[in-house]
Amino acid sequence: MILLLIASSAFGVLTPLAPQPDWSRLNAFQETITRRDFLALLDKVYAPGGAWKETITVEDTAAHVMTQPGAPPFLLSFAISRETAKSIPRYWRSRLQLPPEEPNRPLAGLRIALDPGHIGGYWAKMEERWFQLGDAPPVTEGDMTLTVAQHLASRLEKLGAEVFLTRSGSAPATPLLIGQLGTAATESLVNQAIPGDQAAGKKESERLFYRVAEIRRRATLVNQVLRPDIVICLHFNAEGWGDPGKPELVEQNHLHFLITGALSPQEISYEDQRFDMLVKLLNRSFLEEVALANVISRRMSAPTGLPPFAYRTGAAIRVNANPYVWARNLLANRLFACPVVYIEPYVMNNRLVFERIQAGDYDGLREFGGVMRQSIYREYADAVAEGILAYYSRRSL
Ligand SMILES: [Zn+2]
Repeated sequence: MILLLIASSAFGVLTPLAPQPDWSRLNAFQETITRRDFLALLDKVYAPGGAWKETITVEDTAAHVMTQPGAPPFLLSFAISRETAKSIPRYWRSRLQLPPEEPNRPLAGLRIALDPGHIGGYWAKMEERWFQLGDAPPVTEGDMTLTVAQHLASRLEKLGAEVFLTRSGSAPATPLLIGQLGTAATESLVNQAIPGDQAAGKKESERLFYRVAEIRRRATLVNQVLRPDIVICLHFNAEGWGDPGKPELVEQNHLHFLITGALSPQEISYEDQRFDMLVKLLNRSFLEEVALANVISRRMSAPTGLPPFAYRTGAAIRVNANPYVWARNLLANRLFACPVVYIEPYVMNNRLVFERIQAGDYDGLREFGGVMRQSIYREYADAVAEGILAYYSRRSL
């Protein structure tokens, strides 16, 4: 399931727990992009429908980006042509920049970070990624994503990749404690115009802990320590299950992939979101994200038989002809400065998926709905591993 950050906006305000952006960091991108490419990425991927126009002015030779209230805008000079554009500064490498493959180790040289969504374990109920049907073992997304990440890591390592996990157990990565987030929670409630009684303050402190501080910590780990070529965010999806103690099982089941984009005018009005968006846009994460998501979607839709999920709101947009791939603005893809593919397969409260989750992780095949199937965790991990292998083993194309 997807983490949403909902808040009202005012120009110059930062989202909760966001550090003040250092706009001078974007100077490294001077003359690295043409005016035409900059506008195309804003309009087609990151800020569709003119969402950028309140805060970014595009002139002939430069873009003027609003920074802090009262501070001068940041000026980004365009390259005159793609041929004369300066090289793009970034810690990650595209497929074509990787070293050549090694015999029997087709993923040698590739650095991959796997981000098992949510925390799970003790935290699963608090993070609202928990439901239980009768006496059956509870379904906890954060524990399921970790099982997939462990299977996937061993497959990728056998293929020669260097693999990192943003967490290795059901414990938070952030050192922040809920009790330290009271002031931030009060400010956040004021910004959202929500009455801040004691219960609301506690709930908001918890939300800032598992949904914001936790993801910010993982992003710091990825961007400053791991510095991978790609991040794969692993999730399971769900339809509304109602009361988590009496969940509703449904017939729908589906799959989709998210890449970063589709910021709304309101989201871009936050100084930190505007800054994060420009880092992703300028380092050209989009090209890798969409190419890899395309390949993994083909490898995953066939064995799972899952149809594409379609957004009916403006929160996500299509970026190409692939019905499985959508651009959407989430903290957990925007903050990772390298390319990120965020995967949302299986509806956990679908009848058949629920049965498969109850069967746990097992060797070999078992029958569900008349079809012999691997454990849901291994089917997921195998499909993603095959997609990554198919994409990165064609480095010279
Ligand atoms: Zn999730």
